[in-house]
Amino acid sequence: MKPFAERFSALGLLRHGLTGEDWPKAWRDHGLRRAYDVVVIGAGVHGLATAYYLASRHGITNVAVVDKGYVGGGGSGRNTAILRSNYLTPEGVAFYDRSLQLYRNLSSELNFNVMFSRRGHLTLAHNDASLRTMRWRAEVNKVAGIDSEVIGPDEIKRLVPMMDTSDRTRYPILGALYHPPGGIIRHDAVVWGYARAADGLGVHIHQNTEVTGIDVDGGRVRGVQTTRGPISAPVVVNCTAGWASLIAAMAGVGLPIITHPLQAAVTEPVKMFLDTVVVSGTLHVYVSQTDRGELVFGASVDPFASYSMRASLEFLEELAGHVLQLMPSLSTMRVLRQWAGLCDMTPDYSPIIGVTPVDGFLVDVGWGTYGFKAGPAAGEAVAGLIGTGRVPELVAGFDLARFDDGRLVGEKGAAAVGH
Ligand SMILES: Cc1cc2nc3c(=O)[nH]c(=O)nc-3n(C[C@H](O)[C@H](O)[C@H](O)COP(=O)(O)OP(=O)(O)OC[C@H]3O[C@@H](n4cnc5c(N)ncnc54)[C@H](O)[C@@H]3O)c2cc1C
Repeated sequence: MKPFAERFSALGLLRHGLTGEDWPKAWRDHGLRRAYDVVVIGAGVHGLATAYYLASRHGITNVAVVDKGYVGGGGSGRNTAILRSNYLTPEGVAFYDRSLQLYRNLSSELNFNVMFSRRGHLTLAHNDASLRTMRWRAEVNKVAGIDSEVIGPDEIKRLVPMMDTSDRTRYPILGALYHPPGGIIRHDAVVWGYARAADGLGVHIHQNTEVTGIDVDGGRVRGVQTTRGPISAPVVVNCTAGWASLIAAMAGVGLPIITHPLQAAVTEPVKMFLDTVVVSGTLHVYVSQTDRGELVFGASVDPFASYSMRASLEFLEELAGHVLQLMPSLSTMRVLRQWAGLCDMTPDYSPIIGVTPVDGFLVDVGWGTYGFKAGPAAGEAVAGLIGTGRVPELVAGFDLARFDDGRLVGEKGAAAVGH
């Protein structure tokens, strides 16, 4: 299949530099067709990855991705971009590891620099119970071939010299789960890269196109109603994260999801001093340093259900107190910005991927605070389900029916603050 998009290359850079010729738009605006083979709702990493893998792996290109806002305007443009695969359940570990594998080659696959920076991920333990969970995770990880081990305070101090590993703090650090393959990525580049590559293969991306209803007839999905008119389609995929249960309700499907806001903040840039991602579940805080030198902070979800994306002073005050317990010398740094996004929390902290009681209406939701890293593997799996008609083994345990059957995939011990 010949892609529409111009390939980025050193030669191309030289040519554009010498001729002053403009770069083409990353993706195009199209008129809305009245019918598509697949409509994907949500232009975040999950929706765009699904569309890209449908086109690139299965040759299904008559696909529309519709979003009520803009590409990456949901959680995909608001997250703190932490990637890792050191989860607690065998299902989770295998799934997130596949996503990391796809992320590692994504720049060359998409011909777009997604700036994946492998830098190691530390989850601190401040009490015996946390340390026990870290050891448990390390064992599950090792069985799956994932590089992950429990280390002590001296090794932590060696990796992060700024960290207060003394026993004079309120919550002394007893150890940590160290996961060298973890890291951070440029989240905007990921969604732009998928959008550009999907568009290049013939997918239509429709921004500012809100889904207002889902047409179901005789137990089968028939299409969607949008603010730009109806679209008929035999397959509709719900990739709307924080809004997932509202969209599912339009098709008459109930999801066990509660939406909570999650906030984050970023400081002014400083010289590089932190080349590891540090997470503390006990202190409800995590921190990493971007390639530009800013510190990016996050925490656990706001403790109430809401669709509000307003940031709050309470969050910042609490965050600052907790960060200073870990690294007291950061007390003079200034926070530049804070923001919030929406997280679709499931009861077992695992996602919901696959079929629903309505034929043709598929879900890729329940991504809570940890779904950005999952985008490639989830997109690949959903595209595989549509392309082959079979649920890929990798995501079989994440089906919606597990909540009726009592087959929960309990991931809270590895997914709450860790993202
Ligand atoms: C502050 C914060 C930090 C996070 N940190 C991490 C992290 O470090 N690592 C990690 O892995 N994950 C993290 N996450 C979680 C991650 O961001 C999400 O799980 C992930 O981005 C979800 O992607 P998505 O494509 O499913 O949904 P989104 O990117 O949220 O996209 C959903 C889209 O659906 C659209 N939509 C909604 N309703 C409609 C409608 N009616 N019609 C049309 N379109 C609609 C929205 O406009 C939106 O663009 C974080 C989240 C937040 C908020």
